[in-house]
This record gives sequence, C-alpha cells and structure tokens, in this order.
Amino acid sequence: MPRGTLFILSGPSGSGKDTVLCKLLALRPEVKLSISSITRAMREGEKEGEKYHFISREEFESMLAAGELLEHNVYLGNYYGTPRRPVEEALAAGRDIILEIDVNGAEKVRALMPEAVSVFIMPPSLAVLEKRLSGRGTEDAETVHKRLKEAVGEIARAAAYDYIVVNDELDEAVNAFASIIVGERARIEKQKYL
Ligand code: 5GP
Repeated sequence: MPRGTLFILSGPSGSGKDTVLCKLLALRPEVKLSISSITRAMREGEKEGEKYHFISREEFESMLAAGELLEHNVYLGNYYGTPRRPVEEALAAGRDIILEIDVNGAEKVRALMPEAVSVFIMPPSLAVLEKRLSGRGTEDAETVHKRLKEAVGEIARAAAYDYIVVNDELDEAVNAFASIIVGERARIEKQKYL
C-alpha cells in the first residue's frame, strides 16, 4: 500500500477556501482533514472538533513544548497549529490528508516534508475578496481591513505553491482541487507497489 499524500491548502481569508474544502470533503470522503488546534474565539456556526480544536493559550503552549505540533503560526494574535500524530497516522495508513494552513505554515511543512503537494486558492480579484470579507458580517471593519492586508501579503506568496486554483465559480474550483488529488494518486511514485 502506498503512503497517503499530504496536501497543503492555503488561500487568503475570503478566498472561499473553506467552502471549496467542505465541498471537496463531501465529494471525496476518503480524504481526511487535519484538525488544527487554535486559540482564537469560536465564531458563530463553528463547532468544536469539526475544523478546529479550540484550546487555551496555556494548552497550546504545552503542546508546543511537548513537540506535539508539526507546525504552528501566530495569526492576528492567536496561535494556530497542526497536531503531528494524526497526520503521521493517516499517511502511514495510506490515506490522503489535507492541512488547511496559512502561507507561513505551508512554508514550514514544505521544508519538513518536501513530498507535500500544495494548493493555493486564489480569489478572482481583490475587489471580490473585499466584498466577500465585508459581506461575511462576522467581524468588525477593523478586522476586515486587517484580513484584507494579510490577504495581499499571502497572495504575493502564491507562486511557491504547486498548484493555483482560482475560485471564481465554486463547483469548478472544487472539481479542479479534486482533479489535483486524483492526479497526484496516479503519479508513478505512488504506483510502484503495483
Ligand atoms: P481563520 O481564523 O480564518 O479560521 O484562519 C486564519 C488563518 O489560519 C487561515 O489562513 C487558515 O488557513 C490558517 N490556519 C488554520 N489552521 C492552521 C494551522 O494549524 N496552522 C497554520 N499555520 N495556519 C492555520
């Protein structure tokens, strides 16, 4: 059995990557999602353990000290980290796993695991991105502004990824991501066991 593939998915806040990811997981239920441990407050509609484990700064810092995180980052004053063990277990069991992490986290994982396949979800334009961020209604104007500024910096680093998927039409973006996953499985390195 070949090892699973580690996929990194990034994209600025407002790129629609969460929706793309959600639809992809419904389409490809065999793909696992890595659940990050984070210290930001839970947003309306979010559930513990669905996409994130919501933990305290103290808990996060003790995981960090114990070497339990594959990578971590501070984003707008909060910690975000990828627990190492579920990733290693999924890959060893031949399952593909997706890390939905920011550009800094992606850089760290690429350095640690060069075989990882990285995908950047790109908004069709900055105007669309701003509209999506302010239309969300879950954050104040200052946070929207900060997220937009972060987004511009993230987009500037998209060229470091293996693939870019423009999320203009949602289903097309989901299909593009699914095709990347299927295509990667067909690579000769993954098929040698045959
Ligand atoms: P949000 O607060 O909007 O859910 O996420 C903010 C940013 O943190 C997003 O770019 C998201 O991809 C990123 N993120 C989520 N989990 C992790 C993680 O475990 N590690 C890193 N480095 N970034 C993460």
